[in-house]
Amino acid sequence: MTQPTQPTPQDSDLPLDMIIFGGVGDLAMRKLLPALYMAYLHGNLPSATRILSTGRQDYDRQAYLDHVETNSRGFIAEANFNAKTWDGFLQLLEYVKLDVQAAPAFDALAQASRDGAQRVFYLSTAPSLFTTICEKLAAAGLVDARARVVLEKPLGQDLASAVEINEAVGAHFAESQIYRIDHYLGKETVQNLMVLRFGNSILEPLWRAPNISSVQITVAEEVGVGSRAGFYDGTGAMRDMVQNHLLQLLCIVAMEPPTSLAPDAVRDEKLKVLHSLRRMGLADIARDTVRGQYKHGASGNQEVPGYLEEKNVPAGSKTETFVALRAYVDTWRWSKVPFYLRTGKRMTRQSSKIVIEFANPPFPLFPGSQEGVANRLVIELQPEEAIKLQIMAKQPGSGMEMQQVALNLDLQSAFQQRRAEAYERLLIDVVRGRLTHFMRRDELEAAWAWADPIIEGWKTLDEKPHGYAAGSWGPAESFALLARDGFSWVE
Ligand code: NAP
Repeated sequence: MTQPTQPTPQDSDLPLDMIIFGGVGDLAMRKLLPALYMAYLHGNLPSATRILSTGRQDYDRQAYLDHVETNSRGFIAEANFNAKTWDGFLQLLEYVKLDVQAAPAFDALAQASRDGAQRVFYLSTAPSLFTTICEKLAAAGLVDARARVVLEKPLGQDLASAVEINEAVGAHFAESQIYRIDHYLGKETVQNLMVLRFGNSILEPLWRAPNISSVQITVAEEVGVGSRAGFYDGTGAMRDMVQNHLLQLLCIVAMEPPTSLAPDAVRDEKLKVLHSLRRMGLADIARDTVRGQYKHGASGNQEVPGYLEEKNVPAGSKTETFVALRAYVDTWRWSKVPFYLRTGKRMTRQSSKIVIEFANPPFPLFPGSQEGVANRLVIELQPEEAIKLQIMAKQPGSGMEMQQVALNLDLQSAFQQRRAEAYERLLIDVVRGRLTHFMRRDELEAAWAWADPIIEGWKTLDEKPHGYAAGSWGPAESFALLARDGFSWVE
């Protein structure tokens, strides 16, 4: 059993009021409360912290704590669970019943929140509620200069709606108070990619065309749409995954070295990447993008329905559950280097990875079994985090045959420290006022400005998504997309 760490004073040890809208919801139960528990366990919350969860349901405090016990505790790994610390953590929790639409004012919340506390508002609700929440928070006098607001994705359905949300939130919070969360940016390996690139001198000279021949970014989910069809069918994989997670990963791979780790220094460089993404016209969309939708198949050993057979999916829906595309970053560094992005539901297994493929040697000196296998840097993000460099080595024996072997950057053994989950790390960043790993408004809008024409183009082309069997790696067209350039997906 993990022993509790005594909370230690933080950089800023103001009392913290963490106010969660959607505090009964799935995200709060599965991610936010377990992450806050872990932060508490390791002494990373200010000593006078309170967590005020809001929701419409008629809980008294004990009923809410029971709900947390039943629905959240199971998401804390057994090795991290400490009964005494858990009880201490539950003491931090309050429940405030609040229907943000119906309530004329947030009086109950204003009464519950302490004067002088550092307030963090975590908006873990549908974004359609963000405007009302921010307006009523401000009207209740809860938004002071110290307050911070965390916005969950999806931030809009397109550029226009993202601008609308940003305007509404920006009317009450300065940009420096707004934390747009993309939990991929909280992953240790993604942050490590920046260290790998900019903390070492050996990679940087190679990190460009023509030394790099292609980049692949895959975020594959094994799960289907589950109970989220109501939300998902109006969204699809492009809006749900590509516009945010995959583009953020692309930015970290493609950005120029920032002048410092200051939030705006890093975000300025990411923004330049987003502005350099080549806009796609109809012909590019038809040639360089693949939409897919899963059909009946198998997940593990279980038979699973196709997307159209899932509960609450409208008959004949053309929503994509899979996207693969070829993108270009039009800069000197990345001239003519294809960036292949791929994401899908009901794929063979959960797997998120970035693969940097280096050019082949200019002359094939070692004919043999593995000729032409490129060096690759593989950054695995999920389910396990790992960094491997695949290089060629001589097969033992009398000949000069080559074989690919992996140089494994074994971070687990190199560092004995615990590796915090992305949400925990990002929540601590919010509490400490560190904005570097959060999206700035212009980044979000630039990402939509690139994605919107593709989504519009699909509407104009009006093609049905390609079917793929649940449990596969996606439609055949996705393999063809790379094969015609002489590449293949690295599974
Ligand atoms: P959810 O389970 O449906 O929870 C939504 C919460 O919003 C519920 O707790 C609900 O409270 C609250 N709510 C709805 N209308 C309200 C109102 N008028 N007044 C006050 N509260 C209201 O959704 P979720 O899965 O937690 O997702 C929350 C947000 O995070 C969404 O924007 C989602 O897209 C995003 N997100 C979720 C995940 C995830 O894994 N779940 C991952 C990434 C992003 P009641 O208890 O009153 O119903």
